[in-house]
Amino acid sequence: MQEVAADVFCAEGTAVNWVLLRDGTELTLIDAGWSGDTSAVEDSVRALGRHPRDVQAVLLTHAHPDHMGAINHFHERYATPVFMSSAEVTHARGGHLEQARPADIVKRCYRPSALRWTARIMAAGALKPVRIPHAQPYPRAGALDLPGTPVPVACAGHTSGHSAFHLPDKGVVITGDALITGHPLSPVSGPQLLPPFFAHAPADAEAALQTLAGVDAEVLIPGHGVPWRGTPAVAAEQARRRASITNTL
Ligand SMILES: [Zn+2]
Repeated sequence: MQEVAADVFCAEGTAVNWVLLRDGTELTLIDAGWSGDTSAVEDSVRALGRHPRDVQAVLLTHAHPDHMGAINHFHERYATPVFMSSAEVTHARGGHLEQARPADIVKRCYRPSALRWTARIMAAGALKPVRIPHAQPYPRAGALDLPGTPVPVACAGHTSGHSAFHLPDKGVVITGDALITGHPLSPVSGPQLLPPFFAHAPADAEAALQTLAGVDAEVLIPGHGVPWRGTPAVAAEQARRRASITNTL
């Protein structure tokens, strides 16, 4: 786990990241790995000397199974609420997830790294359906009254209700899958879009880069890949340039 900025921690599970925001003894968890990452999510909380009960809420960038894995566990065990955009609430509650079709992934498994990744995510619960009956929309507009005071930034495209989270005081933006820096299916590293078959609306995913480019930050924490230092404007520009490669995957 890496402290990317003061009291902002990025942890990696099965090729997917989650983020912990600390304020004194309390935490906010942003995204929650695959279901197979559940104990790793708990371990990351304990590594900060806190108990999972200290997590005041989970925030979800988008309702895909690689980001929702530990959410039901935290709710059942510790009554932790989970908040997301209202569009994602519909997906998460109903189980109608706007995700890549397995056939689109299998087609790309000719490369050994893709094959290894597929095996890892299968083991982490990729085929297990996830539904979050207790999903709730953000309780208010603007900054949330939670540890780290995250501000949701609507950036639909990867899914129709995708959010990034801005931490203005820390100069950090958590971009989820709207802007990533690496993926086992991608031959390039650095700011980039996921391949279009992962996106609900690929054209909107490109437009969302414009939204992120306007966010005032110096550090970016993506849903996949390593944290990246630089402004979102520069990251978005690099992602557009790399689209000539990532669009063909
Ligand atoms: Zn993802």
